Amino acid sequence: MNASALEIFSSIQGEGPYLGYRQLFFRLAGCNLRCDYCDTKESWVKPEKVMVESAAGTREFDSYRNPLSSGDAYALIDRFMAETHHSIAFTGGEPLKHPDFLQRLIPRLRGDGWTVFLETNGTLTEELSQTIELWDIVSMDIKLPVHSSSKQFARILSARQQSHALECYAKIVISPETERDWVIDSVSLASDNDLPVILQPLTDDSVGGANQSLEHLWNAMSIAEDISNDVRIIPQVHKMMRIK
Ligand code: SF4
Repeated sequence: MNASALEIFSSIQGEGPYLGYRQLFFRLAGCNLRCDYCDTKESWVKPEKVMVESAAGTREFDSYRNPLSSGDAYALIDRFMAETHHSIAFTGGEPLKHPDFLQRLIPRLRGDGWTVFLETNGTLTEELSQTIELWDIVSMDIKLPVHSSSKQFARILSARQQSHALECYAKIVISPETERDWVIDSVSLASDNDLPVILQPLTDDSVGGANQSLEHLWNAMSIAEDISNDVRIIPQVHKMMRIK
């Protein structure tokens, strides 16, 4: 099965506990959600072409026609092998929209020694089950008000018990509108599944920083810490650095 992608490029992970690691980003097209704060709305449609950095860190891009077969994708990734990366991050959009493509591509990447990282919105339960053996690290959002993350977390826990050392953490975007009950519900869900919690302040792109008061963030953190003993506030650092 082929898949459309937006871009493949080398950069720094700007979110969550792997902040600062160099990763190869593979941004797939398509998403099953329409979050109002989405900063990659261009991923909602299938682009005609995928932009691929000509070499790691150059920020010069070549374009290739979509969709990509897993073999096409593997060949495009190969140019980055000479540079050291912590991992390859499949992001989107929602990467789990393409489970068959991922099942063909990722075993080859793992065979080459890549650590494989998934950024997911936490809502496509069956697709996560189908691909669970592929991932080393899963960054899973908890989205209001879907809550299908609960089934996803069950899959993660079961995979941890049965197979490999899958790492996972829960990411919760905090906006000025985020209410106390939502923080309680989402942190409880993560904590019940023994997952670290990252509270990520929504970024105001015009200033590159959090778009809410420190008091609001402290309140969210205090609520979260009453439930979980592993809570961090981590903003989107790549936006502060004004890099992709
Ligand atoms: S899940 Fe992610 S990519 Fe999809 S709409 Fe929400 S923020 Fe955007």
